[in-house]
Amino acid sequence: MPVQLVDHPLVHDALVALRDKRTTPEHFRRAATRISVLLAAEALRELPTSSTTVDTPLGPAAGRRLAPDVVVVPVLRAGLGMLEAVLELVPSARVGHIGLQRDELTAVASQYYAKLPASLDASYVLMIDPMLATGGSAVAALDLLGRAGAHVVRIVCIVAAPEGIALVEQRHPHVVIYTPVVDEGLNQHKFIVPGLGDFGDRLYGTV
Ligand code: URA
Repeated sequence: MPVQLVDHPLVHDALVALRDKRTTPEHFRRAATRISVLLAAEALRELPTSSTTVDTPLGPAAGRRLAPDVVVVPVLRAGLGMLEAVLELVPSARVGHIGLQRDELTAVASQYYAKLPASLDASYVLMIDPMLATGGSAVAALDLLGRAGAHVVRIVCIVAAPEGIALVEQRHPHVVIYTPVVDEGLNQHKFIVPGLGDFGDRLYGTV
């Protein structure tokens, strides 16, 4: 099951704000944060916990704490729009960055930056990249994470195209993709249709 569709009224409400071409960068950023919290919470649902006991003012209470090391990896630059939301949920997470640039003509991704935390083999890695379009950048980032020793990787995206899902499924069949929606497909410029345009440009007002 490579795709987990996240279906929640608050997710759909934020998604429609992101899609709307009239949404300003300010409101786009807020909607990106809202949707990212909800998607990340879903992607982290399977996180193991360990039992603990704490003392409330009235006595001991049993509880559970997160057990694994969580590593969040935004794919630059658009993934940065989801990072703060994930760190609100997991403040102790370590953060890696992968910079991939898409050639405007060929849409082929090339890496210009990578800085990952050490020892990823026992970590729960959440790769955040809002637009899963051709899957080229996602596969390049997953290859890099695999070479760095990551075994458990989840992708959180905001809009996915069937082409991107198929490529990830073919090249990294154990990676689960969390997305609220799978759109129609890609246009000749490899943009997702209907999508929401260029996520990074809309996030930072660089359109
Ligand atoms: N990246 C974007 O920002 N938008 C798309 O539609 C595809 C890739």
